[in-house]
Amino acid sequence: MEANKKITKSGGITIPRGMRQKTGILPGVPVDVAADESGIHICKHVPACQFCGSVDEVRIACGIEVCRNCAGKIVEVFR
Ligand SMILES: [Zn+2]
Repeated sequence: MEANKKITKSGGITIPRGMRQKTGILPGVPVDVAADESGIHICKHVPACQFCGSVDEVRIACGIEVCRNCAGKIVEVFR
């Protein structure tokens, strides 16, 4: 799937409907945007621990994504 688009003055781009539907990147879906030598990549956001980067058993606490292991370490600090 490919599309030829132009970036707007404000840096925006409209992703074609077919691409949005195929990828499930629909209104309200959080995405990650990354850039490298080959271009800019937009992917569905995968929750990851903001302390260790793990994607296992990640929950959100006070707006921070944290895994069970790191949450346990935080709790230990207050014991
Ligand atoms: Zn963690």
